[in-house]
Amino acid sequence: MPFSKLNLSNKLQMLLKKNNYHQPTAIQERVIPLVLEQKDIMAQAQTGSGKTASFVLPILEMLNQNPTEGKRKIKVLILTPTRELTLQVAQSFRLFGEALASKPKVVSVIGGEGIGEQIYAIQKGCDVMVATSGRFLDVLSKKQMTLKHLEFLVLDEADKMLNLGFSEELDAILEAIPRKRQNLLFSATYPEKMLEIANKITQEVIRVSVKEDEPIVIRIEQRVIEVNPENRGSLLRYLLKKEKWKRVLVFMANRRATDNIAQKFRKRGYIAESFHGDLSQDDRNYTIEEFKKRKIQILFSTDIISRGLHIEGIDCVINFDLPRSPADYIHRIGRTARAGESGVAISFIGHEEKGHFKLIEKRSQIKLKHEQIKGYELTGEAPKRVKGSAPIKGKKKSKKDKLREAKAKEEARNSGR
Ligand code: AMP
Repeated sequence: MPFSKLNLSNKLQMLLKKNNYHQPTAIQERVIPLVLEQKDIMAQAQTGSGKTASFVLPILEMLNQNPTEGKRKIKVLILTPTRELTLQVAQSFRLFGEALASKPKVVSVIGGEGIGEQIYAIQKGCDVMVATSGRFLDVLSKKQMTLKHLEFLVLDEADKMLNLGFSEELDAILEAIPRKRQNLLFSATYPEKMLEIANKITQEVIRVSVKEDEPIVIRIEQRVIEVNPENRGSLLRYLLKKEKWKRVLVFMANRRATDNIAQKFRKRGYIAESFHGDLSQDDRNYTIEEFKKRKIQILFSTDIISRGLHIEGIDCVINFDLPRSPADYIHRIGRTARAGESGVAISFIGHEEKGHFKLIEKRSQIKLKHEQIKGYELTGEAPKRVKGSAPIKGKKKSKKDKLREAKAKEEARNSGR
């Protein structure tokens, strides 16, 4: 189906073409008409499916049909789990907003940047506000903005927000906005808790799922290489040389590991940087921009980057350390093979990780052939599990796992505010 069948204005269609959007993705084909019919939607959409444009385009179309006279009023509120996703969604509104006769004013409301400037931008006039929930509530508490004209509430990557103690924040947000509004929910998964949240927001909702397509993962060549943990760095260097990748995203278990390895790679002459929640917002933005501009070849990151970030042309995603959950595995590897491209995702595993990787394979419904690379073979024996000893990672949480999880949640919470 072409975009011309979706009741979008000619100018918007021309701008889509200019940006190489030639055909709607499955989620866009389903969601755009429903939004234009003013329905509430709960969409199950993987990152990389084109979900952002599925709400940005029809919302812009509706703003176009009903332009604001005089001073701008906040008509659209989009809540996202991270600062980076907020900036990206705002960018998409600005990009396609160019097609409107009256270009929408878009303000990003995120932590890590001066709140005063954000309030000033809102007061100057704002049609579309894209925000992380923590900072949104901070701004709300200053009582300097009115939300009574709000028409759309969008929750993007809503399941990721569940980890951030979002439910209580949402109550305060719903108190502050009009009851009559159009609600759009986007989430990769719908666990019980997510359905509770959805219930709070809307009663009459149309569910949309395009899961059966899962086009992105299919285009990703997934590999798993067995290697001793101490040889992962040299194996990575070997692969970089052999495959001649120009841009690689490497996932590590924690912040310190990303800093350490990036430094080691820089010493060896690679253009490598680290990315994690300890960096200032300016540093985070700068690193992402440099990576996008291909000025950084290897970016070592924690899971903070694994959701929603659009960077085209990542040749390979490496799981230097495995992700904790199968859902994170899909999100991580979805960073490569963005719309229409293909990509490679490689996981490094040693004896210790075999059980955990099996679980990832089972939950992701994949079965990969384990490879060994000459010169970097996995040696030694798999540790024997005595009855009653600690379970494999990912099956039952150990005390250490729980502590680590609490720390990760704290990191995520800080990054969102
Ligand atoms: P998203 O799932 O919203 O994160 O989008 C993933 C990537 O696909 C982004 O880089 C978009 O710019 C791109 N994209 C979304 N829809 C289309 C489309 N219909 N045609 C081409 N690229 C698209």
